[in-house]
Amino acid sequence: MKRWTEEGQAPESTNPNNAYGSAIHYAIALTEEGYTDAEAIDLTVEKFGRWIGPDEMEVLALDLETFHERDYVGVKTVASEDNLKVPLFVHNGVQIYYRFTLDRLYQRIDAPASFLHIDYKSSAHKQSDEEVHKNPQLWSYNWAIHEYWPECEDLHQSYDQLKFGVVPTRKNAEQRAQIKKWLITQVKAILKAEDVNPSFNQWCPWCPLMESCSEPKRTAEFAQTRIAELAPDGSDVSSLAAGDMETYLADMYLFETVRKCIERYEKSVKGVLRELPTERRQQLGWGLFPSSRDVWSAQALVEVYRELGPDFFLLVKMTKTNIQRFFGKDKAATDRVLRHSTKEDASPRLTKLKT
Ligand code: SF4
Repeated sequence: MKRWTEEGQAPESTNPNNAYGSAIHYAIALTEEGYTDAEAIDLTVEKFGRWIGPDEMEVLALDLETFHERDYVGVKTVASEDNLKVPLFVHNGVQIYYRFTLDRLYQRIDAPASFLHIDYKSSAHKQSDEEVHKNPQLWSYNWAIHEYWPECEDLHQSYDQLKFGVVPTRKNAEQRAQIKKWLITQVKAILKAEDVNPSFNQWCPWCPLMESCSEPKRTAEFAQTRIAELAPDGSDVSSLAAGDMETYLADMYLFETVRKCIERYEKSVKGVLRELPTERRQQLGWGLFPSSRDVWSAQALVEVYRELGPDFFLLVKMTKTNIQRFFGKDKAATDRVLRHSTKEDASPRLTKLKT
């Protein structure tokens, strides 16, 4: 059978609800490339920092530790964070594919027809054994793996909930036929849906079509007009306090999504500008210029300390995140340093309540 791979990602691969899931998978992949856990967390925070909360940064380190504890021996890796697709059915002469992303797929060295699929889950909510057995994603993957690797005759699947443990599950040929039929029915129902016009929604900032879709731009224009209406001079929004808070909040949620779209749009366009040939970039009125940033090595800090004496300590700033990154898995060392810190009152944190 022909095999397909491509750059695209399965639909479930990135959205605001699974940003942490994407982050931990990214961090795991980095450690497998040879980065230390601390380095991997650093790079992960750089890439996903906007979407993951402060609590989750600490959880990243713990989940990485759990991942390393699960050591599979006597196997070779067949797929690792791979985006794949297999043909599902033909609709009006067009081939429809099922796309999927495999966390890990191993093949037993002593029994090459035996495969082991691991699906890592970072959720804070435990799935019961029954939920795992009925999980349509894992079930569909079982069918897709058999399609993609016909040499796989015996597939074991492990639903690895990093915070709660591993649930093993299996499917037979009849169940695979059943899930394939279900997938086809779902796709046909979507294709038949009458209202397929795009409309701005909470997923737009993560949509692969965002840069070319007119909806985010149309909604951004609406948002600009609405803000101008609420705060005509561009800054005085004090009148909001007396008004209809429900309406202001609904607008705020919309504007937050619009802002994420605008940020992503700006980043994408600037990314393309950077890659353009110099002449074309200049035609568009942009240039690339050398830049540098100041870096303070440990030795440089020692030199500054020698010059300034104790005043040096008024200059430097330690952060909890840096301390945790520095000591990595050595939690005792981290705690020894952290116990010297003191708390000072800050302005109360405004947090949306869970409903
Ligand atoms: S960007 Fe366009 S296509 Fe993508 S989710 Fe938003 S409205 Fe739909």
